[in-house]
Amino acid sequence: MAWLNVAAIVDATDAEGPGTRTAIWVQGCLKRCPSCCNPDFLKLEPASVIAVKKLKKKIESNKKHFGIEGITLLGGEPVLQAPGLSELAEFAQRIGLSVMLFTGYKLEELKESQFNGIDKLLRHVDIVVDGEFESDIIEQNRNWVGSENQNFHYLSEKYDEAIEPIKEGVITEWRIDPEGVVSANGIPFIVKV
Ligand code: SF4
Repeated sequence: MAWLNVAAIVDATDAEGPGTRTAIWVQGCLKRCPSCCNPDFLKLEPASVIAVKKLKKKIESNKKHFGIEGITLLGGEPVLQAPGLSELAEFAQRIGLSVMLFTGYKLEELKESQFNGIDKLLRHVDIVVDGEFESDIIEQNRNWVGSENQNFHYLSEKYDEAIEPIKEGVITEWRIDPEGVVSANGIPFIVKV
């Protein structure tokens, strides 16, 4: 059975890709971009280790209850967990959802890489946003990306460049859970305060 080491999940967000989406941040990244917006998610250590089977049920439930358009995979570095994420991405597409992936690696680099499961993951992703975060060139004009060097790649016919320009979309969301914990996600971060 496949498992994923998950740092955070937001069941329904309008701030992490086109439409309403379930966003999944995985734990662990080998890069250390200065001013990384999710420093707590970098260490390669167990966070919430969850069976992919359970995440599939969650996604299916979120589709039913929130009408999500897709899932977004972020981190941390998702490609380090490509085997489990590819299974999840394949399932999401099978039930009619789109898949968006944020990675600190360039797409060309990934295609030539030896990351276990990367080919399957890329076969089940509709949009890749690639490249390290560069805090001295913060992105001002495009949705969802952190810095100007990062690029969108459309791996299916589902979306195109029309989704990129910032119009009036949600950029950051704040929420309070039943225990009173406040959290935020969107450009360019997810935090708990
Ligand atoms: S690749 Fe992403 S998660 Fe990793 S250090 Fe850079 S900004 Fe942070």
